[in-house]
Amino acid sequence: MAKLALKQVAKIYEDGYKAVKNINLDIKDKEFIVLVGPSGCGKSTTLRMIAGLETISEGEMYIGDTLVNNIPAKDRDIAMVFQSYALYPHMNVRENIEFALKMKGVEKQERKIRVDEVAEILQLEPLLNKKPGALSGGQRQRVALGRAMVRNPKVFLLDEPLSNLDAKLRVTMRAEISSLHRQLGTTFIYVTHDQTEAMTMGSRIAVMNAGHIEQFDTPANLYYNPANKFVAEFIGSPMINLINGRLTQVNSKPAIKIANESFLLTEKNQASLLTTPNNQEVLVGVRPEDMYYQEGRDTASTVKVKAKNVEQVGSDTYVYYDFHSSDREQVARFNPARPIRIGDEVYVHINMDKIMLFDKNTEQSILDRSVGTEFGTYYDEEK
Ligand code: ADP
Repeated sequence: MAKLALKQVAKIYEDGYKAVKNINLDIKDKEFIVLVGPSGCGKSTTLRMIAGLETISEGEMYIGDTLVNNIPAKDRDIAMVFQSYALYPHMNVRENIEFALKMKGVEKQERKIRVDEVAEILQLEPLLNKKPGALSGGQRQRVALGRAMVRNPKVFLLDEPLSNLDAKLRVTMRAEISSLHRQLGTTFIYVTHDQTEAMTMGSRIAVMNAGHIEQFDTPANLYYNPANKFVAEFIGSPMINLINGRLTQVNSKPAIKIANESFLLTEKNQASLLTTPNNQEVLVGVRPEDMYYQEGRDTASTVKVKAKNVEQVGSDTYVYYDFHSSDREQVARFNPARPIRIGDEVYVHINMDKIMLFDKNTEQSILDRSVGTEFGTYYDEEK
């Protein structure tokens, strides 16, 4: 069993800087967890505390039911794969992979069997006699994974393992690492600053910001039910639209007032509203795919926009425009079959069932998004 628990864990560096602030994480056996967040938010520090490479300043960490705060890295049964690969350049692939076993005093015959097993899974057999200098970036990364795998660790820690690879190879390696996780049935904890990588790989993702965890949830919940503005903006590309509005009532029904227009909340959003509308300031979050071209005008939930930039990505067209009630440029996803040019004025329809609402001051969601998340649940069970 390799469940892991961090309870109120903090890291204060020697210079007094608190890089990780009282985080809690409950990681189940065999889970694939991703820590994601902007540079400097404390992801590597957290991973290094789990590995035992940094001391834990406050709080407790458990592997299984054992408190491991004072257990040294080598005795934690954890293997770490670094961004730099950290391969020995003078050793060939076989020697690199078997090095840890040699250090442990595993005899030669057994070492050969284990390296061969790992090489087969990672398709490294033809490369076993080559030196790292003769390998491509992707092959080196596989050797680094092999070095971790050969030790049969209870937990794999991966720190930005793909960031030195080109975009195309990253996509291939993403799939390889996910399939390796399924094959090994071991707990994986993966650090990245790339939200796409996090979304495609993690069964659950901890979104970190300035040393704390903003939300620890499934990919679908982070996307459809973000706990706050930070998560809503961090997850998803192009970025979510945020519109300034006020939560009010029209004929005793909850509505949002944007500039001089009112948009009634749908029944679903009325049911999940956590506050009573009282003219408070809110941010209305709308994903680009929930803003689409509307032929003519439907006064209930459309806005008129002027295309400032048009981006064709093949399957979709993204239309960027300025909007009077937003602090930044907005973006709508159009069907590419609908031709549009810069400067065109069109109506876009807002899918009011899918909007998010954040309190303008606290930036926290004011919708109980567990209401009606059937799609999200289905998606996560599939993973
Ligand atoms: P991330 O992995 O999310 O980019 P890190 O965990 O590496 O972030 O760093 C978190 C914060 O801690 C950063 O502000 C970084 O400058 C600071 N930090 C990292 N290592 C040290 C250290 N040895 N001493 C002091 N501050 C550090």
